[in-house]
Amino acid sequence: MWQRLLGKRVILITGTDEHGEKIATAASACGSSPREHCDVISQAYKMLWKDLDIAYDKFIRTTDPKHEAIVEEFYFRVLAKNDIYRADYEGLYCVNCEEYKDEKELLENNCCPTHLKPCVPRKEDNYFFALSKYQKPLEEILEQNPDFVQPSYRLNEVQGWIKNGLRDFSISRAAVEWGIPVPNDNKQTIYVWFDALLGYISALLEDEEQISLQSAVSSGWPASLHLIGKDILRFHAVYWPAMLMSAGLSLPKMVFGHGFLTKDGMKMGKSLGNTIEPNELVHKFGADAVRYFFLREVEFGSDGDYSEERFVNIVNAHLANTIGNLLNRTLGLLKKNCQLTLVVDSTIAAEGKDFKDTVEELVRLLQI
Ligand SMILES: [Zn+2]
Repeated sequence: MWQRLLGKRVILITGTDEHGEKIATAASACGSSPREHCDVISQAYKMLWKDLDIAYDKFIRTTDPKHEAIVEEFYFRVLAKNDIYRADYEGLYCVNCEEYKDEKELLENNCCPTHLKPCVPRKEDNYFFALSKYQKPLEEILEQNPDFVQPSYRLNEVQGWIKNGLRDFSISRAAVEWGIPVPNDNKQTIYVWFDALLGYISALLEDEEQISLQSAVSSGWPASLHLIGKDILRFHAVYWPAMLMSAGLSLPKMVFGHGFLTKDGMKMGKSLGNTIEPNELVHKFGADAVRYFFLREVEFGSDGDYSEERFVNIVNAHLANTIGNLLNRTLGLLKKNCQLTLVVDSTIAAEGKDFKDTVEELVRLLQI
C-alpha cells in the first residue's frame, strides 16, 4: 500500500501451494480427492483475505495449468544446465515439512524440531538438483547483499546452513502421485517445493498472455520482497536462489522471515486445541481491530503472543479511546469552526465534495 501511494507499480501475490504427500493425506482423511480438497481450502483462504479486508493482486494456485506449464519449462532449463541427475537417496523424512532432514538437526527419537513428530526412514530413486554447485555463488550473494535475508539475525542462520556445506536435494518423488509429473519421466512427480516456489513467477502471467517463463518474468520479476514464515526460510533463502541461478533468472531482492504466533504464551497446535481461528476473530471483533492488534503488538520478524484479554485492552485503549477520541474531537472542531470543510492538498481537494460528504456522514454517525 505504501509503495503504491508512492506511485509505484505494485503486485501483491498470495496463493495456495497444493501438491505433495501431506495434502493428499489430508484430503483422503476428509474423504475427498486432493483436487476437491484444494478447491475448498483455496476458497477458504480467498474468503479469509476478504474478511480481513486485505487486497491482493494475484492469487496463484499451483494446480493451475499455466503454473504447471511454467514448472515444466523451468525444469527443462535446469536440466539443460546439467543441474539435474538421477540417484538413490536414503534418509529421514518429515512429511509435514515435506523435507529430508539431517540427523543432527533432529530432536530425540528423530523428531522434527518444528512438528515434534518422528521423521520416517525413506529410500527412493529420485532426480536431484545440484545445489552443492551453488555453494560459492550463494556465499557471495549473501556477502554482497547483507539485506537479502531479513531480519538480520535470520541471515546468520542462513549463513550457518551454507557454511555447513550444501548437499544436493531430491526434486522428485517416486511414491507421490499428487504432483506435477516429471517432464521426462512420468513415473515420478516433482517435489512440492521445487514446484511451489515457482508460483511467485507463474502468478505474474496475465490471463490472455502466452504461457512462457519469458512472458511471466517480463510481467514483473524479480520480486522486491518475499514475506514468509521463518520455518520455510531455507527453501526461500537457499534452495530458491540456487534454482533461479541455475535457470538464469534474477533473484528476489529480499526475503523476510516473520515469526510465529503463540496463544496465551503457549505454542499453538491442533492437538492442544488452542489454535486461533482468524475467521472467528474477524467476525467477533472486526477486521480493523484484528489487523491493528497484530501490527501493533508483534514486533515485525519476531514471535508474538495473542491473548484475548490483551487484544481487548489494546483495541479499547488505542483504537477506541486514543484514535477514536482524536477523530471525535477533530470532527467536533471541524463542525464548530470550519463549516465541515478543510483546506487540503490539491489531489484530495479535487475530490473535495466526497470529502465533505464523508465528514458530514461521520458527524451524523457519531452524533457530534
Ligand atoms: Zn517437520
